[in-house]
Parts: sequence; structure tokens; C-alpha cells
Amino acid sequence: MPFNFSTTLIHWYNQNKRDLPWRHTNDPYKIWLSEIILQQTRVDQGLSYYERFVKNFPTVKQLANAPEKKVMKLWQGLGYYSRARNLHHTAKIIVADKKGKFPGTYDEIIQLKGIGAYTAAAIASFSFNEARAVVDGNVYRVLARIFGIDTPIDSTQGKKDFAELASSLINTKKPALHNQAIMEFGALQCVPRKPACENCPFSQQCFAFAGNKQVLLPVKSKTLKVTKRYFEYFIFSHKNSTYIRQRTGNDIWKNLYEFPLIEPATSLSEEKILKSKELKAILNGVDFTLKRVSKIYKHELSHRTIYGRFWELSLHAALHTKLNYTKIGRGQLPKYAWPRLIDKYLSEEYNFNS
Ligand code: SF4
Repeated sequence: MPFNFSTTLIHWYNQNKRDLPWRHTNDPYKIWLSEIILQQTRVDQGLSYYERFVKNFPTVKQLANAPEKKVMKLWQGLGYYSRARNLHHTAKIIVADKKGKFPGTYDEIIQLKGIGAYTAAAIASFSFNEARAVVDGNVYRVLARIFGIDTPIDSTQGKKDFAELASSLINTKKPALHNQAIMEFGALQCVPRKPACENCPFSQQCFAFAGNKQVLLPVKSKTLKVTKRYFEYFIFSHKNSTYIRQRTGNDIWKNLYEFPLIEPATSLSEEKILKSKELKAILNGVDFTLKRVSKIYKHELSHRTIYGRFWELSLHAALHTKLNYTKIGRGQLPKYAWPRLIDKYLSEEYNFNS
């Protein structure tokens, strides 16, 4: 190789890195926590989640012993709730099967549920200084641009090629530093839209910069098809009570709470919603007065867009539906973990931050 990639990278890192709390520890539990949180959100938002998790559960044992409701509540707002459930489940396994001791090698770490190659490499290198290269979105971008690789990053061949290149570049004496550096370089310098090429230490060697191909690399073969879902929530009121349930089944937001919901296949008029057989099944003969309908709340997930609407109905009698709803006092609403969509509505309309 005509230039020393890792030395240049680490030099850049030492001058430009951000001071982040998980960089002051080599506790694998805390590194794991930070990586799972950072898969969900930007660093600035992830910081407060990380700090709250570490404060509430300073050790893997404390996380394992926590009630799931509390874990989900702390995760609220991050999305992909299955990751929080996996985190909790894996913490329990570490405590039950490994006496609370985090496994110390890549090969063992990757056996844990919810931990893929990227997270295992991050933990193995940051905590145990094992020379395993991380390959995440930042790394794909940096390598594709500098080395001019146009194999799609979402193809089997692309994954293999990038993993091999990343492994060949890793600094075996300083793997933790090298991995931190390449991720930080992708996050701060070689960013997706406007990379800072003018003052980049790789500008002499960079294939993309030489050919002005930064926006064309990396290449992705599939573009995500976004589906639309329409969530119509009913906030019933009866004698200062309302009804909620916990989401179950293999769908988004599992185990979080919600109001009675119908989900038509398409966007329907107000009249059609109020006369729908799904609403009739929930009401089971109870009459109501419509008090208010909210605006439509749009919530974007990676491959679906949810259009949520909230119907406030005053019931003329208590519900005696066969569906599985729990009656609660309205004052109890802030105690439950809600999907961000509902949380946004509640904080805008009722001014509470759960
Ligand atoms: S020159 Fe530009 S595209 Fe190339 S590595 Fe640097 S920031 Fe990225």
C-alpha cells in the first residue's frame, strides 16, 4: 500500500475526536450498551439515553434484574424496540449462564442474541483489544470512497469484499484506536452529503475525490420500498378513565402501550372510520359522542411511514368489550411506555412528557 492508512487515520483521530463517555471505559457491558443505542440514533441524542441506562443499570446484572417495563420506558423514543428486548434478554443470559461476566472474545460475543458482526467487533476491540475490524455504514462509505469500490454494500459479494479490506487495513497493535478512528472519520469528515475533502488527510489518495465521485459511493443495489400504514387511535373517556392495552405479536412497538386502535388498509374519511365495523367491535354497543379528532401525525420508520390520528370519544357507558383493553385513570397515562408517535400526541395535546 502506497500510504499507511491506519497511521494517517489515527493521527487524524487524535486531533479531531469527540470526548464521549463510552470512550473513557473498557467495560464491555457499557460499550455494548453504547453501541446498541448508537445503532438507533445520533450521538447527541444517544448520549442522554446512554447516561440514563448506565445510571439506572450500572452493571449487566442490574439490567438483567430490571423489570422489562422499566427497560422499555428508558428506551422509549429510540424505536426498534426489539433491540431493547434483545438487550434485556441477553443481559439475563450473561447473568444466568456466565455468572454476569461478559464474554471476552469476538467468537463468544457474536454468539449472544442481538449482537451482530459489527457490535461484536466493536466490543472485542474496544474492551479486549482484539484485532477485529468494525464494518458499519461509516466504514463502508470511507473505504468505498478512498479505494474506489463500487460493489454494492448490500450484496453478499460487497459485504465480503469490504470485510476483507477492513481486516487487511486494521492496525493489529492498536485495533481499538483504529476502529474508533475509522468510525469517527466517517461520522465527522467523510460524511454522506458534503464530505470535507479540502482538508482531508486522504485527499491525495482518495479515488472519489480525484474523480469527483463522492456522492456516487458507496453503491447500494436495493432501494427500500416504503409502505404506508394508517393507525387510528381512540382515546375514550368515561368518568375520567380511559382504555389502553399492551401491544403483542410480531409487529413494531411490541410490549409498548397504546390506545384502542384500528388499522384500515387505506386512508379513510372520518365518517367511514366512525362507522367502521372494527370500531363497532371495540365499542360493543356502547354509544359515544365525538369530541375531537387530531391532526394526522406522520411517523417515519426505515421502511414504513405511519399516519397516526387520534379520536377523542366520550363514552356513554363503560366499555365491556371482549377485546383486551385495560381501564386506567387518565392521570396514570404518563406511567406507561408509549411509542414515540403516541408520546408526541400526548405531549402536544396534554402537555405531559412521559
Ligand atoms: S477526500 Fe473526501 S471523500 Fe475522500 S476520504 Fe476524504 S473526505 Fe472522504
